[in-house]
Amino acid sequence: MDLLVKNAKIVIASETFESNIGVEDGKISSLSPSLSAQGAKEIDARGMIVVPGGIDAHTHMELPVLTTSSADDFYSGTVAAACGGITTIIDFVDSKPGQTMLDALGDYRGRADGKVVTDYGLHMMFKGQNLPEIDQIPNIVKRGVPSFKVYTAYKKRGLMLEDPDISRVMKKVAAAAGLVAVHAESETIIESLIQQNLAAGNTGAVYHARSRPAEAEAEAIARVTRLAKEAGAALYIVHLSSRAGKREVEEARTRGTRVFAETCPHYLVLTDKALERQDGRHFVMSPALKKPEDCEALWEGLREGGVIETVGSDHCPFTSAEKDWGKDDFTKIPNGVPGTEVIIPILYSEGVRKGRITVFDMVRVTSEAPARRFGLTPSKGSIALGADADFVIIDPTKQVRLTADVLHTKIDYSIYDGLTTQGYPVLTVRRGEVIMEDGEFVGKKGRGRFIPRKTVDGQN
Ligand SMILES: [Zn+2]
Repeated sequence: MDLLVKNAKIVIASETFESNIGVEDGKISSLSPSLSAQGAKEIDARGMIVVPGGIDAHTHMELPVLTTSSADDFYSGTVAAACGGITTIIDFVDSKPGQTMLDALGDYRGRADGKVVTDYGLHMMFKGQNLPEIDQIPNIVKRGVPSFKVYTAYKKRGLMLEDPDISRVMKKVAAAAGLVAVHAESETIIESLIQQNLAAGNTGAVYHARSRPAEAEAEAIARVTRLAKEAGAALYIVHLSSRAGKREVEEARTRGTRVFAETCPHYLVLTDKALERQDGRHFVMSPALKKPEDCEALWEGLREGGVIETVGSDHCPFTSAEKDWGKDDFTKIPNGVPGTEVIIPILYSEGVRKGRITVFDMVRVTSEAPARRFGLTPSKGSIALGADADFVIIDPTKQVRLTADVLHTKIDYSIYDGLTTQGYPVLTVRRGEVIMEDGEFVGKKGRGRFIPRKTVDGQN
């Protein structure tokens, strides 16, 4: 045995039980109340709870945006993840102009291997430039990347696909038993509001939110869910932000569409009020922050299960100097915020402690459901014999104010500065290695691994 965790109160998605956890060769080798250490490193978890390692299925490390890149690379970004109890991330491969999807995949593997401290999988972004190589989709799936993200917005940046092309991609992905991820926002609604606002001299950060109302999300979800049903494709709506959008997902499921949604920590605890602040541009991401009633609808979705199945971070931070590019024009603010480190602290403190969700819901949406939905079972997503020894010890009494100096992302400010959480990860174990202890990263660079994912065909 390499590691022994004693007196663990273990919580998995379906139950809670007390046991010691024995770890050997990176896997859980024994679960029994009576285990002796036999020379292994020993950790006493009395008074703590132990949950499966978090799976953040939505990150953008070192993503090229405008003339810069998102601030965290695969090292600093996964260190932040590990410090928040995440043991696996799934990032999005973005092909450079002229680069094929296969080359882009090789490029991402080359940049991530050697830097990552958590395990990682990849999704493929499928943009207009990738249309000539649509027949490569089954080849990408075979390489352990069975999900493809399309955009219904960002035409100017070359990300948006027209509806007939979205439909073609859906059919190809469905034939390969893959999953279609969609960034669902209406280009028509957004572009007309942006033009109106700029023409009226409304250039402050708050107009970013006013140009991206809930209807923009709902319209696109209504459309892509119908396209998906016709194409026979399974859909994953990334970063759901609104009550109206949630209703569209619900209705699509009632019609028999195979679709589930993800939301992000910022949509659960922040509102568009934040964009009225002096530093409102720090709160600019897309979709934009919405109203308090939208936050409540998203919590409700996490509690109910089914419609909103996962919480991913959409981790894509920019420094304050980069955010300043849009001081006088909200359309020039790089879109994105950090988040991978705060998923578990926010779900525990704002969700479990405040009675909005149960601790079982938290484990389901942060680990069990993403493992199942993204083809990582049975090695990830639970604390079980033979599974990877990926788990997190949470101290339910520890209070942490989420300031910039506490969080490990490289940026120089925190959008959660005003939030003090109670219940915080104090130890993270990834495949048997302790990688975070008492808020500090203690692992080694590059020890994370690429995890080829299986197809799951998004069964409802
Ligand atoms: Zn994203």
